[in-house]
Amino acid sequence: MSNFKKNVDLINESIKGHAVTVVCASKYVSSDEIRELHNLGVKHFGENRVDALLDKKENLQDISVIWHLIGTLQTNKVKKIINEIDYFHALDSLKLAKTINNYRTKPLNCFIEVNVLKEESKHGIETEDLTDFINEVKKYDKIKVVGLMTMGKQNDIDQTTLAFKKLNELKTFYGLESLSMGMTDDYLIALTYGADFIRIGRKFIL
Ligand SMILES: *Cc1c(COP(=O)(O)O)cnc(C)c1O
Repeated sequence: MSNFKKNVDLINESIKGHAVTVVCASKYVSSDEIRELHNLGVKHFGENRVDALLDKKENLQDISVIWHLIGTLQTNKVKKIINEIDYFHALDSLKLAKTINNYRTKPLNCFIEVNVLKEESKHGIETEDLTDFINEVKKYDKIKVVGLMTMGKQNDIDQTTLAFKKLNELKTFYGLESLSMGMTDDYLIALTYGADFIRIGRKFIL
């Protein structure tokens, strides 16, 4: 038996008082499990892999899900996914922006992924390149920049806190609407720094 009901209640309780959208990072759950979660009131689902998202969307055509692509997107996969999603959380290159603009038929809500902590292993635009990047993507009418996204640093609360705080400052500086930050281990910190979208996976299945 799944603990979905209990976990959804716990998550809802923990975000009380915050105007935040919970995106269930559904890579750990099947289409049927997404259906169960949907029945419990979860409407936003995020996949980090193109093929998984397409499969699940295909299986769930009869319910209304808001689909987020939360992981890195290769340009060669843009064509098949880009008109199937409502939000994209990992815009991280101009080449990708250009390709999205070519294939998307109407403006897409996009978060620019920022590598705030300058971790070598991470995707994302570096802070000092953000002004140019934001100016360049303005050329693309199918890209609607709704905000910024980042990932915390695993097992490092101080660096994660710093990253979320900085992302919030950048959002204000650029006059953007939203922040996508916070996962199972760090979403409470993200809420403190004004997250608008949190992407939670494991906490649904614990
Ligand atoms: C899996 C995933 C999450 C959720 O991570 P959890 O630690 O399971 O909450 C969030 N964002 C992205 C991009 C992911 O791939």
